[in-house]
Amino acid sequence: MEDRLFRDAMGKFSTGVTVITTEFENAPHGMTANAFMSVSLDPKLVVVSIGHKARFLEKIKTSRKFAVNILADNQKEYSMTFAGQIKDEIDIKFETLAGLPVLPGALAQVSCEVVSEYVEGDHTLFIGKVLDIKLEEGNPLLFFGGRYHQLKELEVIQS
Ligand code: FAD
Ligand code: NAD
Repeated sequence: MEDRLFRDAMGKFSTGVTVITTEFENAPHGMTANAFMSVSLDPKLVVVSIGHKARFLEKIKTSRKFAVNILADNQKEYSMTFAGQIKDEIDIKFETLAGLPVLPGALAQVSCEVVSEYVEGDHTLFIGKVLDIKLEEGNPLLFFGGRYHQLKELEVIQS
């Protein structure tokens, strides 16, 4: 099967956008990721999936901790920066949550410690036990069909 067909199919699943952050050699590092999911309520677990070509892989494997920053619709530049789509250096004033660097203005900051990892194909899945959470008001940045979107109106659909 062609990679493009698979990516086009997966792109039909609209997601939010996160930046996964960690600390490595006393400096904050981040990587844009939409492969994020809530896993368990008791205990509170989440999962992220990191490609084997990503430099971030070594950092999360070493630190054994990560934070998930769920981006707001005014944070597309953060997504593009941490995906390497914008090359300009930007000086970000990271905040701290449970000892991890987190992005200011994210809708949710979720700090975790790695409790297990699973190599699957060309990605590794990291299960994180949630240590602390901080929330902000706002609307989400969305990713659909390989493009960024924002909600025009928040319309609740109920039967
Ligand atoms: P690097 O090139 O090392 O870092 C990425 C960028 O972040 C660089 O430009 C770097 O300058 C910047 N950066 C890092 N730390 C800082 C800092 N402290 N201050 C300022 N800038 C900093 N890949 C996956 O593996 N899993 C996914 O779920 C996933 N989802 C994605 C979703 C979207 C919407 C997009 C656009 C990309 C996604 N990717 C995903 C791809 C991934 O984001 C890129 O391949 C990324 O560049 C790989 O990270 P790296 O660690 O190799 O990159
Ligand atoms: P795209 O059309 O490549 O992405 C559409 C969907 O395909 C994504 O939401 C994701 O579910 C899936 N996908 C894309 N690349 C993948 C990969 N290497 N492994 C597993 N699933 C993948 O969108 P785009 O705008 O061209 O993406 C920008 C860049 O970010 C590309 O280089 C893409 O490979 C990368 N990306 C990687 C992942 C990932 O590794 N999980 C997810 C999204 C985007």
